[in-house]
Amino acid sequence: MKRILVSGGAGFIGSHLCTRLINDGHHVICLDNFFTGAKKNIAHLLDNENFELVEHDVVDSFSIDVDEIYNLACPASPIHYQYDPIQTTKTSVIGALNMLELALKNNAKILQASTSEIYGDPLVHPQKEDYWGNVNPIGYRSCYDEGKRCAETLFIDYYRQYNTRIKIVRIFNTYGPRMLHNDGRVVSNFIVQALNNQDITIYGEGNQTRSFQYVDDLIEGFIKMMNTSDDFIGPVNIGNPNEFTIIELANKIIDMTKSKSSIVFKPLPHDDPQQRRPDITLAKEKLNWYPTVQLNEGLLNMIDAFKNDILTHANTIQG
Ligand code: NAD
Ligand code: UDP
Repeated sequence: MKRILVSGGAGFIGSHLCTRLINDGHHVICLDNFFTGAKKNIAHLLDNENFELVEHDVVDSFSIDVDEIYNLACPASPIHYQYDPIQTTKTSVIGALNMLELALKNNAKILQASTSEIYGDPLVHPQKEDYWGNVNPIGYRSCYDEGKRCAETLFIDYYRQYNTRIKIVRIFNTYGPRMLHNDGRVVSNFIVQALNNQDITIYGEGNQTRSFQYVDDLIEGFIKMMNTSDDFIGPVNIGNPNEFTIIELANKIIDMTKSKSSIVFKPLPHDDPQQRRPDITLAKEKLNWYPTVQLNEGLLNMIDAFKNDILTHANTIQG
């Protein structure tokens, strides 16, 4: 049994990770300030003697005995990370620094939840890990993109200067149950709109693309990455290479929910990437990992979970 800290553990991905680690027999410390996390996401773990919940902001330093750290704390939806952009940069950069210091003190392994946003609005397609990206340093998305880029820099420099055992995973668009209904990202927005027969809001013309990964596949990738030998530090792309336009996604969700919703077009947000698809050759080679849940199956699971949330009035953001 390892002692494993998950920062951002009450969020969408973090709560799935905590559940998996508890099921694998570990002691889990979930650190979260509940900015976009929810108690409901981890309610099923609270009575477990191996699960500890600590309300804490990663911008402040933290001390505890741990063997492994997964650093996930950071709002991930554009509306939430742009709400207080200075706090987003602090969370990404100072949060990473605090988690790296904790790893250093404990000689713990630490995994960074990085992002495909490292590649910005990519000029190379699909994106491989050696692509440096096309990121606007002063745009509305910069607090997140540059914050995450700087966090990667800190991780690699702790590795070079202190031999800290690091792992960097670049996550591509991930969806699944436990996303907040008002999270603001495209899959959750479209499912909520379709289930309520409200207009489906497409930003721009809807010909931009994303490659959507089901959360269970990502969690498997995290675990496999953490268990690689110390000489493999990444970064490694973890995502599903099946690419869809946003219009295709909207039509799929309307069909699957038998919704009466119409599609409406809204302005495209600033610096919205036009295309995104991971090259996962490295993950296949080094982790023997590839996604197993395709979009139709994953969407069905998420639609069922959201129908259930609506019945129980759960999973909207508090306050
Ligand atoms: P989320 O918003 O559901 O979860 C983030 C969690 O971090 C929340 O519980 C939130 O309360 C917590 N948090 C935020 N700021 C904090 C702070 N200062 N101190 C402590 N806790 C804080 O988002 P998610 O989709 O679960 O994303 C988790 C991680 O994965 C993030 O780091 C995100 O950047 C990364 N990621 C996610 C995706 C995706 O598609 N979901 C893609 C790329 C990267
Ligand atoms: N999007 C959309 N309607 C919505 C929410 C998002 O058309 O209600 C678009 C958004 O402009 C982007 C894509 O869907 O092109 C994915 O957006 P999301 O916020 O989920 O992720 P990200 O842009 O960070 O990849």
